[in-house]
This record gives sequence, C-alpha cells and structure tokens, in this order.
Amino acid sequence: MPEGDTLFRTARTLERGLAGQQVTRFDSAYPKLNRVHDDSPLTGRTIEKVESKGKWLLIYFSGDLILLTHMLMGGSWHIYRPGEKWQRRAGEMRIVIETEKLHAVGFLVPVAEFHTTEGLARRDGFRTLGPRLLDRDLDELEAVRRLRSRPDLEVGVALMTQSLLSGIGNVYKSEVCFACRVNPFRLVASLTEPEAAALVAKARRFMRANVSDTSGDQIITYTGLRRTTGRSDPAERLWVYRRRFEPCRKCGTAIESHKQGVDARTSFWCPQCQPMIGVKNPVCESRPTI
Ligand SMILES: [Zn+2]
Repeated sequence: MPEGDTLFRTARTLERGLAGQQVTRFDSAYPKLNRVHDDSPLTGRTIEKVESKGKWLLIYFSGDLILLTHMLMGGSWHIYRPGEKWQRRAGEMRIVIETEKLHAVGFLVPVAEFHTTEGLARRDGFRTLGPRLLDRDLDELEAVRRLRSRPDLEVGVALMTQSLLSGIGNVYKSEVCFACRVNPFRLVASLTEPEAAALVAKARRFMRANVSDTSGDQIITYTGLRRTTGRSDPAERLWVYRRRFEPCRKCGTAIESHKQGVDARTSFWCPQCQPMIGVKNPVCESRPTI
C-alpha cells in the first residue's frame, strides 16, 4: 500500500509534469467520471496543481473541479510521453488525463471522484479544516453555512468540530454559547439563522480579542466588573467556564456542567440564560445538588 511519502512523490512528479498544462483528452473506466466529463468537459481546462493529502491524491482543474483519488492497495499513477508504451496492461487503466506533452494514467485506482471545493470540504473521511475564525478575511456567511451543515450535532460539539469551524477550543465553546444565550446541548438544527450567525460572530470576537490582548492573559472573554478587580486568575474573567455551582454573573442561577460529545469535553452553561430548546435533553433538565 502506498504510504503518504510515496504519494507525496507521485504528486510532485505529476505536478511538475502537468501543472499549467491544458487537458487535451480525458477518459476513464468509471462511468461516473465520464458523466462529469460529458456534462462539463475536462478538455480545455488547465491543470492548476497536484497535491497529496495523507493517502489522497488531488488534481485541481480550472473551473473549480477537483479529481480526488485514493490508491488503497495497488493503485498507482504513471506519467508517459505521448506514444510511449504503458508499463501496465490497458485493462488496468482507470483514468487517463492527456496534455500536449504528457499523459497521466491512473492504474487500478479504486477510489476516484470529482468534487468542487465546497463538495470536497463536506466529503466524509476527507478531513479539511473549516474556515479559520482568526482569519482576517473570514467569510462569516460561509462559516455560518458550515456550522449549519451538521444539524444533527449538538451545538457544543459542532463548535469544536474543526472540519466545520477551526480554532474554537473548549473554553470558548462554553463562553460563546453563554454570550449568545444558546444551550450547548441544543441541536444545531434548532438554531435560528441569527443565532448561528451570532455564535460565529461572537466566537470570532472573543478569539480576536484574546489574540490582540497584550496583558499576557490567556482569556479575556469576560469583560464585566471583575475585569477591573485586578485578579490575575483568568477564570475570574469567564462567564461560565469552570464555574459549576457558582452563580451566573447575569441572573444568579447556579451554573451547570456536563461532559459533552465523544471526546467528553465538559460544557458549562446557565440553565436560566441558556434554556433548552428543541429536543429534550435529560442532561439539561437536571439541577445541581448543592
Ligand atoms: Zn444566567
């Protein structure tokens, strides 16, 4: 089975031979790929780049089309000059991409799919990082769309899923939910558009504030009175994080906490300010025993 470094070399070879070249012919043993070629021809597109990601090999064509292949056992890409004899049987050919100077042939490539950038980001098993919340030119609408693309997840889990939004850690998860008055155990499906937008905007604001803070504190999400008390413990500046049983800074209700998601990262929330909406969740119905 080709390892990551083998694929890296293959990608580099293909990149050197094909990048910047125009496709003159495309053929495949896979009807699914040929259908895409029929609908929006590969011929005439420019090969923009070739890269490997883990065990995946990606060929990017102009016009937002990406050929994703996985070699699994025994698959391989070869590169030939026009007219050169193939080293493997024609019956093993799965994909041919020809340019004027070189032909790339995928033999026994078991997984091959066309994707757009957006489709690829959503593909199962193909991990891509979601929009980075700290990016100055972050497209917030896209970030909101990503968040809402998993209605089946609990909000607290979705916020920490790096393929949806990248950068939010466990502290921000709870703080952002509190600031938006969203219970972290609600399902993403229950979020209104303004709520989803607020979560993204608030997460971004908190994270940017943290980065730009020069005081050396890790966290400055809570900027209420206690910010001026001069306490050095950053936990004193948080709304709910690690404040289980302590009174909510807004309403005085005892903060609750519970492990959440497969990674069992604890979420903190105020049951009064962040009511459970949508599917009933027994965790959020419980009251702390003091
Ligand atoms: Zn409260």
